[in-house]
Amino acid sequence: MTKESIIEIKINEENCTGCIICKLWCSYIYHNIFNPSKANLEIEERYGLTPKIVFLETCHHCGQCVQHCLYGALELKEIIEQ
Ligand code: SF4
Ligand code: SF4
Repeated sequence: MTKESIIEIKINEENCTGCIICKLWCSYIYHNIFNPSKANLEIEERYGLTPKIVFLETCHHCGQCVQHCLYGALELKEIIEQ
């Protein structure tokens, strides 16, 4: 039986600034355009609180948004399943 690698993304919402760099990169990677409405995750503004980060069902769990988050709000974890 071969091992299957699954990437899990840990969310640290307290670090999120709402900059939407993650959304811009996701839309660029999958649609070749910097358009946050095309991203596979949502950054929901909450008045007076840090934004809420929501990955959509369309997310491919590629981890590219994690690589471009400058504030540590997204963290890559790799889980190996057998
Ligand atoms: S998760 Fe990171 S890149 Fe995305 S809005 Fe928050 S701080 Fe910005
Ligand atoms: S993990 Fe990949 S597909 Fe999912 S939101 Fe991030 S960049 Fe987009």
